[in-house]
Amino acid sequence: MVNDTIAAISTSLGVGAISIVRISGKDAIRIANSVFKGKNLEEVDSHTINYGHIVDGEEVIDEVLVSVMKSPRTFTTEDVVEINCHGGIATTKKVLELLLLNGCRLAEAGEFTKRAFLNGRIDLVEAESVMDLINSKTDKARKVSINQLGGKISGTIRNFRQDLLELLASIEVNIDYPEYEDIEVITNEKLCSKVKDIKERLNEIVTLSENGRIVVDGIKTVIIGRPNVGKSSILNRMLDYDKAIVTDIEGTTRDIIEGDINVDGILLHLVDTAGIRNTSDTVEKVGVDRSLKELDEADLVVLVLNNNEELNDYDYQLLEKIKDKTAIVAINKCDLDNKLDKNSINNQNIVEINTVDLDGIVALKDKIKELFNLEELDKGDYNYLSNVRQITLAKTALNVLQEVEEGLKRDDPVDLIGIDIKRIWEILGEIIGENYSDELIDQLFSQFCLGK
Ligand code: GDP
Repeated sequence: MVNDTIAAISTSLGVGAISIVRISGKDAIRIANSVFKGKNLEEVDSHTINYGHIVDGEEVIDEVLVSVMKSPRTFTTEDVVEINCHGGIATTKKVLELLLLNGCRLAEAGEFTKRAFLNGRIDLVEAESVMDLINSKTDKARKVSINQLGGKISGTIRNFRQDLLELLASIEVNIDYPEYEDIEVITNEKLCSKVKDIKERLNEIVTLSENGRIVVDGIKTVIIGRPNVGKSSILNRMLDYDKAIVTDIEGTTRDIIEGDINVDGILLHLVDTAGIRNTSDTVEKVGVDRSLKELDEADLVVLVLNNNEELNDYDYQLLEKIKDKTAIVAINKCDLDNKLDKNSINNQNIVEINTVDLDGIVALKDKIKELFNLEELDKGDYNYLSNVRQITLAKTALNVLQEVEEGLKRDDPVDLIGIDIKRIWEILGEIIGENYSDELIDQLFSQFCLGK
């Protein structure tokens, strides 16, 4: 249990009808009461809203409503007080300042949620979902986050851990008491089938979760291609406004231009890159380097080719670059004469488009929907892991499960198998924060907003 009492402005700082200053900790009620004129907050019932004034000595700072929530039925499990002030920067800051002068410490980013986690009220997946919920840009992203906050996926992870524990127990019993006849002998065959079952179920979660991440984070889409093939025009068409500058002088798009669109409730984050080509021009080279970097981080690459020109070495180089990526080849300028040989493009996902006529753009969007199974997503219950940290750990667990399976096939000693199973149990524990490092927790919560 942490000892000090923290305070922060929990609403966004600006002009509004109401702002909330939140306090949490063992002295929350006493400190709030020391700047409050109205009922004695130390004597009111828990979970009540109390009318009064915030005062600095004789001076009235604001007319407020104060919610008093006593431990343990609160967000942090500590005593929590929320002061509903009139919105506005000067008033809210003054109220916070008074609280700090009277014994509160200014909360760090995410510290309320961190306390909720450290005090065991929520697990790490639930804590992360709080932030995702706040940051949700689409309704689907909201659904995933609120489901996570409800603890369903955490429950699934806990069940996996329970299964692993039982497996581990039966292995240990067999190692320690091989002579007892009434203990079920765990044969290699039985182990194999149990491990296989866990692996299949976890694999399903990982696959679903990769889509889940896309629901929450959106699909980072990078548009690449030689200068002048029509990348900016495609971006413009998709964004529907003139954010990128379209010109017919080669290499005008020197920097990265970005924008978000909503494809069936999924956020498509589009990045238009400078033409990737071998060039000695310094400015363009910087753009090219950035393009290549963007390429690495992309969930989806759209390589644009010009229907009106024959494929050249650069096009082939780019086709080679996208070989192992989720990619679409967009043959642009299909309103002009065909000079490009489609048969020499070694890629399954080709769409023919032109930016004069909107049909091609719709086909491009449809292809994206198809590649990411967006229609399937709608049928699911939005119950999965959703960020890189969680999914990477689940994948690591899967890899170790794979090793266990191989070990069993090789007939490795059962105690070695046990060590690996324990490791999987630990990795899954990291997902929900059963074991964690202070650095990870600090880093994770520092990404939160103040007052949350
Ligand atoms: P980028 O360098 O790849 O970003 O290419 P731009 O989007 O700047 O386009 C280069 C030129 O091609 C501009 O003059 C566009 O108007 C033109 N353009 C883009 N798309 C099409 C298309 O589908 N058909 C035709 N005919 N011209 C296009």
